[in-house]
Amino acid sequence: MTPIQTIGLSRYCPVCNTSSETASLFLERNIDPEKLSNFSFASRKEPEFMCHQLLQCMTCDLVYVDQPPLDSDLANAYHVAEYDSAEEALDAATAYIKAIQPILDALKQHKDVLEIGVGTGIFLGQLASKGFTGLIGIEPSVAAIAAAPEATRTRAYFLKQTTSQIHLI
Ligand SMILES: [Zn+2]
Repeated sequence: MTPIQTIGLSRYCPVCNTSSETASLFLERNIDPEKLSNFSFASRKEPEFMCHQLLQCMTCDLVYVDQPPLDSDLANAYHVAEYDSAEEALDAATAYIKAIQPILDALKQHKDVLEIGVGTGIFLGQLASKGFTGLIGIEPSVAAIAAAPEATRTRAYFLKQTTSQIHLI
């Protein structure tokens, strides 16, 4: 796997813009490049418990990475990430659909929905059973898209277009 480069600077708090010089160390950087693989940016993110240095903002208490990876490196890492979590995705989708039922009940329309990080589209499938018809998923991992059922991919999942009105994201 290609090493992940950081921006090389200590950025300010992304919420309140307080200097990182006044932030306290929340967790030291713990990344073993030898353990990184194409599963490290997959849904389950193995191995667990690795992280960039985390600081805690003294003004707003946000815990954040002050030297995040380059956008281009992150985009590539997610693009080439493997996909092996179909079983967990079904469990998660089932839990999510129950958790958002009050939101679904409050929506006047169940037409268009956009899911970011759609995996194989299993949650969108459950939203389809709730009446949504304009199903759009964004997924950076080509492996996850390839693992999606053909019927899912041909039912307008994973399109890069947007509609004029999205009722649920
Ligand atoms: Zn802050």
